[in-house]
Amino acid sequence: SLLYRVDGWGAPYFTVNSNGNIAVRPYGPNTLAHQEIDLLQVVKRTSDPKISGGLGLQLPLIARFPDVLKNRMDSLQSSFDYAVRCHGYESHYQGVFPVKCNQDRFVVEDIVKFGSGYRFGLEAGSKPELLLAMSCLSGGSPDALLVCNGFKDMEYISLSLIARKLHLNTVIVLEQEEELDTLIDAHRKLGVRPVLGVRAKLRTKHSGHFGSTSGEKGKFGLTTTQILRVVRKLQQCEMLDCLQLLHFHIGSQIPSTALVADGVGEAAQIYCELVRLGACMRVIDIGGGLGIDYDGSKSQNSDISVGYSLQEYASAVVEAVKLVCGGKGVKHPIICSESGRAIVSHHSILLFEAVSASSLHSRQIISPGELQSFLDDLTGESLADYDNLSAAALRGEYDNCLLYAEQLKLHCVQQFKEGSLGIERLAAADALCELLSKAIGVSDPIATYHVNLSVFTSIPDFWGIGQLFPIVPIHRLDEKPSVRGIISDLTCDSDGKIDKFIGGESSLPLHELAEGGGGGYCLGMFLGGAYEEALGGMHNLFGGPSVVRVAAAAATQGDGFAVTLASPGMSCGEVLRVMQYEPAAMFRTLKRRLDEYCDDGDDAGAAKAGLANGLARCFNNVPYLSSPELCSLTA
Ligand code: PLP
Repeated sequence: SLLYRVDGWGAPYFTVNSNGNIAVRPYGPNTLAHQEIDLLQVVKRTSDPKISGGLGLQLPLIARFPDVLKNRMDSLQSSFDYAVRCHGYESHYQGVFPVKCNQDRFVVEDIVKFGSGYRFGLEAGSKPELLLAMSCLSGGSPDALLVCNGFKDMEYISLSLIARKLHLNTVIVLEQEEELDTLIDAHRKLGVRPVLGVRAKLRTKHSGHFGSTSGEKGKFGLTTTQILRVVRKLQQCEMLDCLQLLHFHIGSQIPSTALVADGVGEAAQIYCELVRLGACMRVIDIGGGLGIDYDGSKSQNSDISVGYSLQEYASAVVEAVKLVCGGKGVKHPIICSESGRAIVSHHSILLFEAVSASSLHSRQIISPGELQSFLDDLTGESLADYDNLSAAALRGEYDNCLLYAEQLKLHCVQQFKEGSLGIERLAAADALCELLSKAIGVSDPIATYHVNLSVFTSIPDFWGIGQLFPIVPIHRLDEKPSVRGIISDLTCDSDGKIDKFIGGESSLPLHELAEGGGGGYCLGMFLGGAYEEALGGMHNLFGGPSVVRVAAAAATQGDGFAVTLASPGMSCGEVLRVMQYEPAAMFRTLKRRLDEYCDDGDDAGAAKAGLANGLARCFNNVPYLSSPELCSLTA
């Protein structure tokens, strides 16, 4: 556990149990020991069709833990409730979940259900996101906010007005000044009075990687001048009472509460000015930015860590709004935040299997006799290299030995290219270099573990922006890892690898795979519940992983968990359909060729049927490697 810093990034949701496996603590700090869920058991239950209740799903697998999600939401809400009480704040906190962080239907439905007691709402940034938010919020609290952000056209704005007509508590946030004219148009056509917000471009700047949206040159929001123009136009149209919300977002993963307070304080000043100018302001929406600690370092100087707790964040926000509004005698607004990363990251774990590992040394097929005969036959420059090598060895100059060995190899490669050296001799030159490196102790100690996963599909932020996530074997943690390795994925792309890990490491401590290659060694990528699924692509046509929803259950029920939902990853046919292929027509074409070319012999009929079945199975199965070894996992 120390080796992988589980106590740092994992607390209070993940721990290592007495079996040496990672266990999920579904209720966070309130979890009792017997309520912990062993992740390896989850993999076994969902992947092994033979054990009772086994679902036969293939890895990679996303295991979602709704109890963890609920705990995150409850913790955020209670942190703000506590801060409101402590600071004598005279309004309340009412959050929204930005669905872009994870649009999965069951995640969004859970969020609406878990948050209905405290009016938790949703934020949308596009038309399909607005449609899903409207539909999901229909089952939630009537007071929950539906915040419409993002670039908007007439259709988007009309849809958000329809949402108001449907008695959803919808606020259209102007991100661009031009949106106002479209909105006034839509309001006149549909006869629905909007509730409006403006997104302000703050001067406060978040200088980390995730802060590029902040500052005066940020992509979104209105400048001070534009906000004033919007106010005047609304006044002219007798719609200034519609303006009720001020929004800003200075970027994700805000590193310190000092920066949070700075941004919120500036926004609160704008809020008070809008009140002074006559708008009917009610809500200050502080956007996202509540960060999480991916490496457990609690550092304020890193893109992947934060130096505050939920409680400290909530206190900084409430205090900053109160200070400004109190000073100006302005009624305290409802505080809304759009925390995505902090809500959904923990509840979802990506589980995948190592299928093989490059051995540190290739299995040599060159015998000592063959090596000797190769050396005996050396001539010219190669012989001179070898003589130099032997002399350096006698003098104990090991670095020079390696240098001459490499030179000898280069000469052999040259001869091979010219056609004057056979392939066995070239292999002997490689073997000589490898033997020497091993004897001197300078051979590369880093192994490559090949995993049944696509980095592009499942960890796109690692590939795209170099974001690090904790990656840990989910079992054998009571065994000292004997290898250091990097991870290489299934795609035919050299960027499909992970060679940077939390703690600044360029390799990961790993356990040796079972004899005969891989299978059965499972790893988890943690804290990836936000953004990764939404951003993932289809490189090499690997679709998304299988997904299971794992609910904590009374300990009397077997392993203390129940799989309440299971959906296999996209099949080969389904991913092909995304690229406009028609799998049924493809199958028919191939079947015709089968009929044409496979019609000889007595048992041609049976053979043909077998091949056709094989073809059909390929269309129906997932594109990842099938992993029968999983069935042999032991707890
Ligand atoms: N709100 C807006 C407008 C955003 O652009 C984002 C993400 O970038 C969020 C909320 C979510 O931010 P976070 O994931 O930091 O909570």
